Formats: sequence, C-alpha cells, structure tokens
Amino acid sequence: MDKNKKCPHYKKCGGCQIHNLDYTDQLDFKMKKVVRLVGRFHHVENIIGMDNPYHYRNKVQAAFGRDKQNRIISGVYQSSTHRIVPVDECLIEDKKADEIIVTIRKLLKSFKLKTFDENRMTGFLRHVLVKRGFSSGEIMVVLVTGSEEFKSRRSFVNALLQRYPEITTIVQNVNNRRTSLVLGSKSIVLYGEGVIKEQLCGYTFTISPKSFYQINPIQTEVLYNKAMQFADIKKDDVVIDAYCGTGTIGIIASKFAGQVIGVELNKDAVRDARKNARINNVENIDFVCDDAGRYMVNLAEEGLKADVVIMDPPRAGSDVKFLKSLVTLSPRKVIYISCNPETLARDLMYLSKNKYKVRKIQPVDMFPHTEHIECVVLLTK
Ligand code: SAH
Repeated sequence: MDKNKKCPHYKKCGGCQIHNLDYTDQLDFKMKKVVRLVGRFHHVENIIGMDNPYHYRNKVQAAFGRDKQNRIISGVYQSSTHRIVPVDECLIEDKKADEIIVTIRKLLKSFKLKTFDENRMTGFLRHVLVKRGFSSGEIMVVLVTGSEEFKSRRSFVNALLQRYPEITTIVQNVNNRRTSLVLGSKSIVLYGEGVIKEQLCGYTFTISPKSFYQINPIQTEVLYNKAMQFADIKKDDVVIDAYCGTGTIGIIASKFAGQVIGVELNKDAVRDARKNARINNVENIDFVCDDAGRYMVNLAEEGLKADVVIMDPPRAGSDVKFLKSLVTLSPRKVIYISCNPETLARDLMYLSKNKYKVRKIQPVDMFPHTEHIECVVLLTK
C-alpha cells in the first residue's frame, strides 16, 4: 500500500494542512502535539493510524460555479475564500461520491441547467452533497439549489439513476439565501426515502441531509470501541452520553448498561437520536434536549447519580458549568472524547485539580492528511 500518494490540489485547496508530510511523519507530528499538550497528565498511547489513509470521507460536498472562461466547475472553496478550486478527485473523499459529482456536472450541461451565481443571486445549482454508508452501501445525493423550480427534474433524476443505480435517495435542498451555509431549510425528496441507513458497531443509524455523522466510519469504530473498553460499563450502571449528537455512542453503550441518558442541544439531532434508539429496539435509553452543562447542574441539584459519563464536546471543549457539576455528580469514570487537544488540555487541568486522575490517553487518527486530532481519555477518581 502506497501511503504517500500526493495530491495535485494540495496547495490551492488547503483542506489537507499536513499532506506535505509522509503518513508516518503525519502520525509522528500528531503524537508530538498530543504529548506536548496533554502529556503532563499521563503517558500517551501510540496514535492509531489507518492502514489505508485515503478515501475515508463518507460525506463529500462540492460547490458549483463557473471559471473565467465561463465553463462549469465543481470543487472546494479555497480555504478562507469563496473561490472554487476545481477538484474532480480528492484523495480523502469517497471515490464513488466524487464520480457522482463529476457526472452531475456533465449532466447540467446536457440539461441546460445553470449553476448558481452568488453575486447576482440567480441561477440554479449551488452545491452537491453526497453521503455514503460504507457498510450499508446506501448513497444519498443532495442537490442544493438557489430556487425551487427544477426544470426537467424527473428526467434529470432518471438520468442520474441510470448511471448510478446504487444511489438510494435523491433530495433537492433549496437554499435561496445569501449565506456561506451549504444547506437551506427546505428539502424536497425527489427519489427514495430522503435518508440513508448505515451500520456502526453492530447498530443501524439513520443519516439525513443535515444530521451530524462521523465522517470517517472506519476509525469511528476504532474510537468507539476504545471508548467502550475504557468505560468498562457494568450492567447496573447509569451512563450519561453528553453532547450525544444522534445518539451513536449512547446506543452502543446501552447493551452494557442499566440505563443511558443522552444530552444534546440540537433538537434535530435529538429527534434523530430517538429514532435511532427505536430502529435498534433499544429501550434503556432516553434523550434530553438541553445544554449539557445546565442538565448536569440539574442532575447534581436533584442529587441523582451517574456511574459513567461519556462526553464528546465540540472543538470549543466543555465549560466550567459542566465540569463543576460533573465533579459534584462524581461518576466512577469519565470518558472524554475530544477533537481538539487544546481544549482537552484545559478541561483535563480542571478535572485533575478536582479529584479526577487521567488513566489513559489514546489518540486515534480520524482525519489523515489534515491537522485535526482526536483523542479518547479515561479518568477515574
Ligand atoms: N457524540 C456524537 C456527536 C459529537 S459532536 C457523535 O460522536 O456522533 C458534538 C455535539 O455536541 C454536537 O451534536 C453539538 O450539537 C452538541 N453540542 C454543542 N454544544 C452543546 C451544549 N452546550 N450542550 C449539549 N450539546 C452540545
């Protein structure tokens, strides 16, 4: 396996910040950074890299526009600008998704459909989003359009399906606002169910156009299995899955636990989480839509107990409100899953000063070629 393929778009695109390094050097770089930031709390286990660090992204997004010669292009925004770098093949994106996007670009021409012009706010296609279930094989294509009117929609959909019968659903998402957000609020299902299913650690999860789902399914299993191994949940344990998103970690933990409570701020995610629990016939889990910090304060005030808390906050990390109530609740174990070692260091400092001790730090390379680093940390009292 050649782990040192080079991408011709690397400099212009900017998405893969450390692609200039060979893969083993990338892992080294990440290891050193984790050791520098959190090494003072505990020995850091060797980072778990990928055997094949390419084409791992199950979610691919392409912006559509025109170049100076007025030819239709699709690709990625150059980092921190709104200029599209044409990209047909990306080394980290799913190959099939990339192929579908190129095909859509060719179809636009034959269907005489326009790309959206962000300055004039006219035209049609803005973005294409493809999500693929690596285990299920299901594929969702989302056509993000600047207006709802879609001329020859049926024949366009048929043409796409004819070329890719493996596509399971096609959605039109209307985004007619001046915004850098990709998706608008209105979605129209053009084909299939409007969602795809995917399997992870033996459970099935629904993925909708908007729902958050980990983008590297292979390493997500590695990460979650590590988290479960560290948690070592006992059958009467009350487990809190804080910042639970669509409930993946909590659902996976449910088979070991007495009771699981998932807490999440985003109400769409909570709705998806409840649906996911139902699909998997998991009955010992409840989801609460609330700020994780506030919810923890309430639990602590009510004098309730938790045995294990698994927390997976966004890049900004947790907050003192959450950490303080965590200490009051005083679970036997805390599993901290972090996508930002800087905020992890800050939060571990708080917990280390307040009766917890770091027992394990395991980095997992979820995002090869990019600077992003994921860690799972075990703390006990
Ligand atoms: N554990 C999930 C999602 C992690 S992403 C998974 O692995 O799939 C972090 C999640 O935290 C997001 O879903 C985000 O909506 C949520 N979040 C952000 N701030 C929050 C807060 N203050 N309280 C609760 N949830 C929050």
